[in-house]
Amino acid sequence: MEEPMLADGNYLSVCAYDCPDSCGMVATCSEGRLVELEGRKDNPYTRGFICHKGRRWVRDLRGEDRLTSPLARRNGKFIPIGWDEALDMTAQAIQSAIRHHGHQSFLFYEGSGNLLMGNKIQRLLPLMLGGGTMATGSLCGSEGKVGLARSYGTVGRDQPLAALESKSILLWGRNPAENSVHFLAIVHDARRKGALLGTIDVRATPTTAISDSAWIVRPGSDLTLALYLCHEAINLHGEPQAAHEGYDAFRDACLLVSAEDAQQATGLSAEALHALVGFVTNQSPLSIWTGTGLQRTRWGANLVHVIDTLGFLLGNHGVPGGGVWFDQGDDNLLPDDFATVPGAQTRFMPRPNLGASLLEAELPVEAAMFVRGNPASQCPDAGKVLKFLEQCPFSVCLDWHMSVTARACTLVLPTTVFLERGDDYVMSYFHDLLQKTNKATEPPEGVRDELDIVRDVALRLGLPDRFTTERARLADVENDPRLTPAGPGMWRLKDAPRIQGAFHFPSRVPDVLVEPGMLRLITVHVRDYINGIDPNQARVRVLPPVASVSRELAHERCLTEGQKVTLRNALGSLDVRIHLDKSIATQTIVLPQGVEGVNLLVAPGLTPDGNSCINDSWVLLEPAL
Ligand code: SF4
Repeated sequence: MEEPMLADGNYLSVCAYDCPDSCGMVATCSEGRLVELEGRKDNPYTRGFICHKGRRWVRDLRGEDRLTSPLARRNGKFIPIGWDEALDMTAQAIQSAIRHHGHQSFLFYEGSGNLLMGNKIQRLLPLMLGGGTMATGSLCGSEGKVGLARSYGTVGRDQPLAALESKSILLWGRNPAENSVHFLAIVHDARRKGALLGTIDVRATPTTAISDSAWIVRPGSDLTLALYLCHEAINLHGEPQAAHEGYDAFRDACLLVSAEDAQQATGLSAEALHALVGFVTNQSPLSIWTGTGLQRTRWGANLVHVIDTLGFLLGNHGVPGGGVWFDQGDDNLLPDDFATVPGAQTRFMPRPNLGASLLEAELPVEAAMFVRGNPASQCPDAGKVLKFLEQCPFSVCLDWHMSVTARACTLVLPTTVFLERGDDYVMSYFHDLLQKTNKATEPPEGVRDELDIVRDVALRLGLPDRFTTERARLADVENDPRLTPAGPGMWRLKDAPRIQGAFHFPSRVPDVLVEPGMLRLITVHVRDYINGIDPNQARVRVLPPVASVSRELAHERCLTEGQKVTLRNALGSLDVRIHLDKSIATQTIVLPQGVEGVNLLVAPGLTPDGNSCINDSWVLLEPAL
């Protein structure tokens, strides 16, 4: 039976992009179609506006990139097929893989390209089959959480509106003018109340441009800088009043870092470094907001822990408007047993080197399903993910557009997006709001909800329908006693997470490695980027991609603006076009994230906690052939 068309009117929704802002949206629907999308005015973060990435859904829902039919690869070409055939094919391929090598021969890869909580139910498919193979570890923001958790045992900090109480705000590697515009609005309000804004980054950005003070430092120098600032904090503020385990060893380590060491590492002048010391010590409360890029290294957790220690030594912890922030966990509201299967024996492969793990697996993966993610573009050493897909007998990608991963699979299934699903929720990983989605528009004909797709595959495999029962349980999330209503379909945490207990000092201060003779490759999150799952950046991209280098490096290598060169390392090569940027450190190449091919050069290393160290990548720069 055909579903009745949605009535004309306004529907409340929430942006499910992998973005810290998690905007509340008002979607205007006419004749079953989305005609306008605005920010909710009663959401204290969204404040009535959304960014261009959210707004373009009005166009993209019916745009040229939208997939509207299952596509099967036949003789090297994709051809449209019917849903029954596509779902049968998927179930048979999974069954065949399991028959040959057991349930771990089925890879179920979940990304974070859609933050609807209900999508977590999809993992019941591999779990009910016995566990399957899944990816673990983060490509993005886990090291910072690990680092913050080392201080007090918990990640949670006060909600971001606390910045309104700050007298000084330091954005350390954070660029909200491009990728968290609603936090920028909070920062603007704090400045209107008299707060000073300082920024530390590895290049000039729209955020450094509007800051009262900005310090451009060499990539990889943050740890030395943070230790030196701790050194100055101890000199100026004295030792902590109470005894703290680990303090003496940490003090000895940071007192060894001199101003000269910090200057040499960062490239800052003596005056600039002095000004930075003044910025962090003169006007409290100081809030420090650490970014994602600086913690995407082998020692990212150590770095964020040392920055948090700086906040502690300056006396800013526990003071309204003071302290150190990163991100928080966004799934704490779901019950522990949500979408779980006791006894499941999942084989986990590290996401940061997924391709190599798949290629080298003793027990081969013969059927792979990709949901909400694009690992053939996003994972380090993406070339190996593509190689795996070339040889995997069956691979299916669920997406709303033809991603890099979809293009490499044997089957592509077109899915709905968040505006086309109601009764689901998004909890922000940055602020303290839980929001509910309403179905705001009908999906195009031929498109199916990704939860229903996975459920239908499970039913074809003879599995029980736990998808429907878990979906019903999802509604309980809004009745969680930790929440209080904050508006229609919106709740906030009653008590902001607070730090408590004894502060734990870093027990280890690592040396940061440098690869002599090579250039550090940094990939940065630019204005148009949404974690590798959106076609818009690809559409506007310039080929070959633009690599920014310093004028000094250009002079040294006789490079000119627009010149084509090749970046190369042991993993592969990428042709780029040179852009001269006087704000970038000498031995550095900066590329925007989402550039197709850039992750072919990115090191697949793991941090001690199993996360990615994407910014520990090094390349040689050679003349283009
Ligand atoms: S991408 Fe981020 S800022 Fe833009 S609408 Fe979505 S949640 Fe808001």
